[in-house]
Amino acid sequence: MPLFGIGSAPRCALGYEGDTMALSMREVAEAFVALEKSSRRTTLVAILGDLLARAETAEMERLVYLCQGRLGPPFSAPEIGLQAKLMMHAVADATGCTEEAIRHLYDERGDIGTVAGEILPAEGRGISLMEVYHQLLAIATASGRGAQAQKIGLLADLLRRLSGPEARYVLRIAQGRLRLGVGDATILDALATSAGDPSLKEAIERCYNLSSDLGLVARVLREEGEPGLRRFQARPGRPVRPALAQRVASPEEALRRLGRCQAEPKYDGFRLQIHRVGDAVHLFSRNMEDVSGQFPEIAEATLRQVGAESAILEGEAVGYLPETGEYLPFQVTVQRRRKHRVEAMQEAIPLRLFAFDLLYADGREFLTAPLTERRAALERLVTPTPDSALALSPVLVTDDATELERFFDEMVSEGLEGIMVKRLDGAYTAGARSFNWIKLKRGYRAELADTVDCVLVGYLYGRGQRARFGIGSLLAAVYDEKRDRFQTVAKIGSGLSDEGWVKMRELLDQDSVPHRPARVDSVLQPDVWCEPHYVVEVQADEITRSPLHAAGRDGEPTGYALRFPRMVGWIRADKHPEDATTVEEIIEMFRIQRLRATSAL
Ligand code: ATP
Repeated sequence: MPLFGIGSAPRCALGYEGDTMALSMREVAEAFVALEKSSRRTTLVAILGDLLARAETAEMERLVYLCQGRLGPPFSAPEIGLQAKLMMHAVADATGCTEEAIRHLYDERGDIGTVAGEILPAEGRGISLMEVYHQLLAIATASGRGAQAQKIGLLADLLRRLSGPEARYVLRIAQGRLRLGVGDATILDALATSAGDPSLKEAIERCYNLSSDLGLVARVLREEGEPGLRRFQARPGRPVRPALAQRVASPEEALRRLGRCQAEPKYDGFRLQIHRVGDAVHLFSRNMEDVSGQFPEIAEATLRQVGAESAILEGEAVGYLPETGEYLPFQVTVQRRRKHRVEAMQEAIPLRLFAFDLLYADGREFLTAPLTERRAALERLVTPTPDSALALSPVLVTDDATELERFFDEMVSEGLEGIMVKRLDGAYTAGARSFNWIKLKRGYRAELADTVDCVLVGYLYGRGQRARFGIGSLLAAVYDEKRDRFQTVAKIGSGLSDEGWVKMRELLDQDSVPHRPARVDSVLQPDVWCEPHYVVEVQADEITRSPLHAAGRDGEPTGYALRFPRMVGWIRADKHPEDATTVEEIIEMFRIQRLRATSAL
């Protein structure tokens, strides 16, 4: 089978500059219209795959980012994130309509892309995808005094050259909300389709898990084909997608699955990936954002204590009290995740990062090495220093259930969340949840021990007291990885303060859409739909089967639902919607719950 589909050969060896045959924005908009009309995964993959196959390498790379509503990978691209008000100004400028008229239409339609789509002419001036991309980049990077006016001017210039249908999507991209029903998983499938070989999916996915950069994956696929994808390696500077843990019913089940294993404390803070490149240190959050500036003490400790010129380490950062050595609860630690007043926060809540894995050191990638080898290398690499911001997580290697339980009880009595139990010969499973890591949390003996991370897809006005806030409950979904869709699992009516409800409504209103979003499956009809965006942590009493929810239905009359769900904490800023709990995990949690119920009899 040929590596690349027909028509995918580069049209101009020199790339985009001056290339009259470059992919036009018209072609892109036509494909986007078709994507918007369908919700079938196979159709979406075929349409996007065909469009990607027609693009040159540079176009393909940019197109992939634009489909994600971005200009580059999450860790290095400037955010466009233009506010609706500013865009209305630019639309008025470009069309000669008054701002009042635009606002009026916007209030009716609820989407500035739709408004521009209706009032701009049906035919544009024939602009290429690359020109649109570069203009958006100029808008995103305009800074300093007068940046606001400059952004409006640049956007108005761009709009004058666009047709209505083109503007509809360009403005949605500028908002970071393309709403095409195409998630990363669908883009990965479409890349394989664009190469004319669906069997490349696994190699494409691997490359994505090692780079977190879909544009780069597209480039490697096009320029180097399958061999390039297969030899691709993790490199400091590019975040690796995190390995994730599974759940089991008891320490005995963990031992049955793993045999002799390594147990570690499970710290309740936030995950950081540390990348050292010479004298520079980059810190990446769980969802691959660059948060380097936020935790200077960890960056400094890395330079002092990590004995390698280049390295990738991973660990959990926890707030602590240096006087007593006590760890601070998650709600306190998480306050360190902010971009401003970093120094003051550093003094108020000092952090300590417990490194638990090593992925790369001085030219050697460790991802496929067994845990024992990674841990030994980590211990050689990090010089322990008392009271420093960088420490190693302690470990216990055992095959004894009583010893494991004792370790667990000890950690819980120290105020930790529980333990992580890891397979000794297990590789680091980038981007995947596997049984190489198992989490045993405090309260695992309770019916539903773990919380569920849900994506909010709408809200209901509610009755009684709450109705005065205009929001009574949240419609929440989990992620169906196979279909790349969000399926409802709960209606959440508690866990927030009065101010919390008001703030939540304000946030959700910014993402509201007039109809069910393209990637959402739901039986319930909320009063307000919103694009899947925010992830919240939910505690429930148990998982039940219910005809009211869509999660895991698969043609059955009932789906899975959370009983007595309540929100804990606030929005999980470190998770993308696709990082929410998956339908598969819900089914697994249901299995564990049943197992506990029978063993309790
Ligand atoms: P997940 O990260 O698995 O999607 P989550 O963010 O809700 O889910 P948990 O499921 O509670 O977190 O547990 C996994 C997380 O525990 C890891 O992502 C990591 O941040 C944290 N963690 C704490 N201590 C360790 C450790 N010793 N080894 C690995 N992870 C740890």
